[in-house]
Parts: sequence; C-alpha cells; structure tokens
Amino acid sequence: MIMLKFFSTGILVLTLLTTIAQRPPVNLPTQEQPGLVYQGYWQQRIQYQMDITMDDKNHQFTGKQRIRYTNNSPDRLDIVFFHLYYNAFQPNSMMDIRSRTISDPDGRVTDRIFHLNSNEIGYHKINSLSYEGNPVDFKIEGTIMEVPLPVGIEPNTTVEFEMEFESQIPVQIRRTGRFNQEGVDYSMTQWYPKMAEYDKEGWHANPYVGREFHGVWGDFDVTIHMNKKYVIGGTGVLQNPESIGHGYLPEGNKVKLPEGEMLHWHFKAENVHDFAWAADPDFLHDVVRMENGTRIHFFYQPDTSAQNWKDLQPYAVKSFEYVNKHFGVYPYPQYSIIQGGDGGMEYPMCTLITSHGSFGGLVSVTVHESIHSWFQGMLATNESKYPWMDEGFTTYAQSMTLDHLYDKNAVNPVANSYMGYAMLARSKDQEPLTTHADHYKKNRTYGISVYSKGAVFLHQLSYIVGQEAFQKGMLDYYKTWRFKHPTPDDFKRVMERASGLELDWYMEQFIGTINAVDYAIGSVEKQGKETKVVLEKKGDMPMPLDIKVTLTDGTIEWHYIPLRIMRGEKGPDPESFDVVHKDWGWAYPSYELIVGTPMNKIKKIEIDPSRRMADIYPLNNVYPKQENNNN
Ligand SMILES: [Zn+2]
Repeated sequence: MIMLKFFSTGILVLTLLTTIAQRPPVNLPTQEQPGLVYQGYWQQRIQYQMDITMDDKNHQFTGKQRIRYTNNSPDRLDIVFFHLYYNAFQPNSMMDIRSRTISDPDGRVTDRIFHLNSNEIGYHKINSLSYEGNPVDFKIEGTIMEVPLPVGIEPNTTVEFEMEFESQIPVQIRRTGRFNQEGVDYSMTQWYPKMAEYDKEGWHANPYVGREFHGVWGDFDVTIHMNKKYVIGGTGVLQNPESIGHGYLPEGNKVKLPEGEMLHWHFKAENVHDFAWAADPDFLHDVVRMENGTRIHFFYQPDTSAQNWKDLQPYAVKSFEYVNKHFGVYPYPQYSIIQGGDGGMEYPMCTLITSHGSFGGLVSVTVHESIHSWFQGMLATNESKYPWMDEGFTTYAQSMTLDHLYDKNAVNPVANSYMGYAMLARSKDQEPLTTHADHYKKNRTYGISVYSKGAVFLHQLSYIVGQEAFQKGMLDYYKTWRFKHPTPDDFKRVMERASGLELDWYMEQFIGTINAVDYAIGSVEKQGKETKVVLEKKGDMPMPLDIKVTLTDGTIEWHYIPLRIMRGEKGPDPESFDVVHKDWGWAYPSYELIVGTPMNKIKKIEIDPSRRMADIYPLNNVYPKQENNNN
C-alpha cells in the first residue's frame, strides 16, 4: 500500500448545493478475465543450446549454437535476422559514429570505440550457418546479420538453425566487455549472436548504437568451458554445482572437480528473452534465501566495496518482498546481483552493476535493476520502441520501494522525476515519448523523457484513476502480460478495465505529444454565502482536478472536477471526495467552481496538493498566492 498523506479533519454537509453532480457508482470490474485481454495474441518461441569455449589469454571464445525457432505468427517468414552486438565495438561502426556526432555523448563511450586497436575491438565471425540441416547464405552489415531463407518458415512450424562462430570480447566500453573499471574480467552481455524478434509490429532488427533491447521468449541451455580459476554468475540456474563448488554448493557437500584446467559450467534458464553472465577469478559468492524460497546470489570482488555488498543483502531481500507484494511475485528460482558492467544494467534473472560509489547508490541501483525483472524481464516491452515503459515504470517502482526501504513516507516519492520532467517540459528540447530510444536528438532528452517522464506517467496515472484502481491495474497488468510483449495500448486497456475510465486521451497526449499540464487558480470571489473560484486551463494537456479547500477553523473539504473525456470519475484515492462537481470538457479554457462556504471562512485553496498531477508551473495552483510554493 502506498501511503499518501491526506488529512480530512471534517466533512461538511453540502448536499444542498445545486452545483453538485450526482455521484455515479465507481465502475470496477468484479471478475478477472485476463484471457479476453490478449485474445488473438501470439509470440515467437526460441530454444538456444549453446556450447562456449573461452580463451581467456586472447579474450576470445568459440561457440556452437543450435536454435529451435517456432513461428507462431500468422505470417510465413522468408528472412530472419540476428543481432551481432560485438560488431558495434569497432572504429567507424554506427555506435562509434553516433557517439562522435551526438551533441552530448555518453561519457563512457565518447570516442573510445574509434581508438580501439585490432585486439581490443569486439567481433563475431560466423563460420557456418545451417537451416534445417543445409548451409544457408547470410549477409552481415554492422551489427545485423540478414539470413534470407530458401524456404520460408510457415506459420505454426518449428525450424532449426545451427551456427558456429568465434568472437572477440571487446575492451569494455559500454555494458559488455573485458576488464571493467572495477577490475571485473568479463562482463558478458549482448555477447552471442541473438535472433531478432518478430512480433505483431513486424521485425525489430535495429542496428545497435548502444541502447536498449528486445528479444524472443524462450529457453536457454548454455555450457561454458572456462579456466578453473574463474567464478561465473549469470542468468539461469547452474545444473552441475557438484562439479563447480565456488559457493554454488552448500557447505559440507563434496565438490568433484573435473580433470584438466577447465571447468564446465552448465546453466539453464526457462522462459526468458536473454542470457547474460560475468566471470572473475576473485568473485566472492554469497547466497541469501528469501522466506518464500527465492535465492538471491551476490557476486563481488574482495575490494574496498566488499562490506557494502554484505550490507546490501538485507536491503535486496526487503526490496524483493515489497515489489512481490505490489507488482506481482518474482517467479524465477533465483536472481543474481553481480559486480560488473559500467553502472547498472538489467538482464533476465541477473543484473551487472558497479559498486565503487556510495552505499546508498548501490542500494538504489540494485533496487532499480532488480525491478527491471518485472518491467522488461517479465513484462517484456520492446525497450527500444517503448523505453518509457521499462525505464519509466521501473523508476516509479524504484522510488516507491526506496521510500519504503528507508521509511520515508514522502508526500510524493516520485518528486525528483517530476522536477526533472518539468524542467525538460519548460525547455525547447522535449520530444514525445513515442520517439524510438535510438532516435532522440540528445542523450539528456532521452534520459529525462524515458526515466523521469515515464515515472511521472505512472504516478500521475494513480492520480487520474485513483490509488485503488491503479494498484489493481498494476497487478492485473502483471497477471495478464507477464512472459509476453505488452505494448502501450495493452497497458492502457488493462488500466481502463481496472478503473472503468477512458484513458485514450491520456496516452495520446502524454505519450504522443509534448503537451503539458498547467492549471491555475484565476480569481476567488464572494458570491453571497458561497465562493466562486475561477480555474484556468493554461496548458494544452487536460486533467481532472482534485481541489483541497482549507477553512479558517482547520476543516478540510475535498472537491473533485472530473474530466469529461474520461467518461467517469475516479474511485477511492485513498479517500473519497466531499463534493463531486460537474465535469470539465477539455476545450473550455476556464471553469467556475462554486464552493459552498463563505469566502471569509476560506483559508487556502490548492489544486492537487498530492503533487501527482504534473503541473509544470505549480506556483499558480494555490490561493492565496504563495511565493515559495514551487516544489
Ligand atoms: Zn533501468
């Protein structure tokens, strides 16, 4: 339950007022019918079987990959595509050029790719590829391999690809690579030839320029042969702990190490859309078992931040418990938090994060990345096309979780995101959230739009539909769409069903445009024994209004003005309103609100004191005018 500080010290009887509309019943569906929501939905299915042999002297590996691919679409596929992410880490790649031409390059990338020499670059060389047992031609352009098929894949059939490849692990520039800044030898992410996804929107074979992913749902069976000195953590459950040891086997059990200098790590991951891992000779490995049985693994170096990794463990458990309760239960047997990468990046069943910053930073990033197990891991939105749905939703849930972990009970736990968004909205840089992650003009615009405005989108939605319907909708979204690829419309429909309200206008305006909210209290006048408040809609984006009226004797009245296009009013939020007024059609620039109290008894009038409505000029939301009210 998310706590919002509402105080209602008294309720006035106001039923005699002529301006009060009859309050219609809140339309909450009584029964769950998730099946109806995705009738006709389909998604592709994949099984990867990989055998990888690491050469840690040259930072290269050879791989064999057998892929079973099921076409569940209604279309025959005459071509398939693979991502070859490592090819981005070569001078003059699209990622390199993009980083050297964008006005505000990522500090981790800048021109570093351009300066890689031949044994520092990344690459995938495809030595052979067969389709249904026969060799097929392919064409590689940068990070995408095109494979035209001699015979198309018919709907509802399963085909097999076999591939042999050799790869060089690049010096770590962004996310993946060898020797990260904290001395982790191998951060193995976006590291294997990965089939592109085909969904109801078609193929998603975007060249990799350093941002965001989308993958085919399936199972991974991955065997890694690697020098015995290394410890590996990653996606999937280790199948052979007895011949590995290294913290995977409970103490007291006997490890039977294989002959020779290699260990053979066999992992399986079911129902995921990617596989990542990391390896280092020094990794310490702790396992914490949650009350519900989920095991959280921690892999970290015995360096200056090792104590932080110990202290992190109870926070990680508490975070999972909170998110399980509010956003649906984490369904996989384990999750691994691994030192590696270059900040924090989410993968199915694991995350790679750096830890040489503050302890608070480590907790915050761990919370953020682990919540991606929901928003992107399970609710696998296309991160490239709809990055606000995974980064924004995750940032929202991260703010709520941190508020809980530190017992803050903030009026608006997402306030920082609102501030960032309002700053962007008042600038000339804003682009609509429909922009593809790769195509924002600036990194900064991408960051604030996707993380901050995306978080505001959700928290503001709780204002629009009410806290109760919102909570129900978030759990319905999880139940209906986990292990699938939801789109913005799918999310909208879940929320419409949970709230009984029309939300098309909200999606269209807040996602599809850069329109912003700005309401103001225009004038307040005595009108006999009542008070006339003229409200002004100054921004292009409409909103329903919560209005708090504080009387001189301390009594608080809550007034609600529904937005006509919503076709209803919100439910408990968490308290009911004292007065529901007639609705406001968005085309009208102003609205006369009649408050049934004499003007001299009114101390203060506020539009949305919960601050969940993203009014980008909040100073004019209060009567009498206050100078330092801008938060
Ligand atoms: Zn994120």
